[in-house]
Amino acid sequence: MSAIYNFCAGPAMLPQAVMQKAQQELIDWNGLGVSVMEISHRSKEFIALTEQAEVTLRKLMNIPKNYHVLFMHGGGRGQFSNVVNNFLGDNGRALYLVSGQWSSSAVTEAQKLVGEQHIDSINIVEQINGLNQVTLPDLSTIKKDYRYVHYCSNETVDGIEIFEELTSPWPIVADLSSTIMSHEIDVSKYGLIYAGAQKNIGPSGLSIVIVRDDMLKLPSLPQSSIMDYRVAVEYGSMFNTPPTFAWYLASEVFAWLAANGGVSAMAQLNQQKAALLYHCIDNNPFYKNGVALNNRSRMNVTFQLVNDALNSEFLVQAEQVGLMALKGHRNVGGMRASIYNAMPLAGVKALVDFMNNFAVKHH
Ligand code: PMP
Repeated sequence: MSAIYNFCAGPAMLPQAVMQKAQQELIDWNGLGVSVMEISHRSKEFIALTEQAEVTLRKLMNIPKNYHVLFMHGGGRGQFSNVVNNFLGDNGRALYLVSGQWSSSAVTEAQKLVGEQHIDSINIVEQINGLNQVTLPDLSTIKKDYRYVHYCSNETVDGIEIFEELTSPWPIVADLSSTIMSHEIDVSKYGLIYAGAQKNIGPSGLSIVIVRDDMLKLPSLPQSSIMDYRVAVEYGSMFNTPPTFAWYLASEVFAWLAANGGVSAMAQLNQQKAALLYHCIDNNPFYKNGVALNNRSRMNVTFQLVNDALNSEFLVQAEQVGLMALKGHRNVGGMRASIYNAMPLAGVKALVDFMNNFAVKHH
């Protein structure tokens, strides 16, 4: 069978080398004669795995010492509520920047938990010349006392990415679910970073939280212990039984990233992949994209067929040549190619070839 390239937004493709290793280790991990799923999370072998995972992740992201790394349950949305419950006790307020579907969902969840009067939001996307464009607000002019400002640096559904650095008088809480480790960032600029694992890290369900020590002094609301950041720190993310297989696979993805040049090498490749695909969209009148040049996502490339009556045919034919899951999110329509770290350049080239051929045939 020829290669299958999976463009799913998440759960997304994982590096083939990692999947092959996991397959081999499924019935005998670390010479134990059983899989990593079937041993105690408190065994010395599993503890060694978690320690190594953290060391590698810290190196990959250059995480300063005053930050804790947590491996938690609940994916991305789990953190929508966790940040509220952990930081907005004693009538705290927070500001949310809205750039698309996911940051908007984060506002809904936060308001549900503490009420609209505690959550302010600013829409930071406007249509300029028919294209979606982000303008970061000058937060220094806002005379309010917020515990944190929340934003999402890459809107997975809308294909909008914010490359500009946000500056803020309050700690920045960032949803990096679909962009973590796709390019270098300065972790010290953030109060807390979180990411659901299922795009650039590993299986769904797991979320990575990177939190600055002083954030944990903020008053929390009453909440379940397994979602309490302080409890997670105290128990090394093992207050209850963690998702051990997801943690194992994440550790393998971190090792794969480190062995392949780390985040800077990924950033270069990601830039190359995205440029190739946007070049195809821009230079073929058959396709269009509705995002301003400086906010086009390098992870989730959204595009439309000018003649959208051909959408189903496009998707069927793409599947026939092994290009999977290109259908856009149901709220947006059109197409979306998610090209996270694990997507090889060859996958994007195959997609571009297909798009050009499809356009010629249907001209
Ligand atoms: N934030 C972003 C940016 C996402 O892309 C997603 C999932 N696609 C989520 C949050 C929610 O993640 P989960 O489904 O793991 O709760």
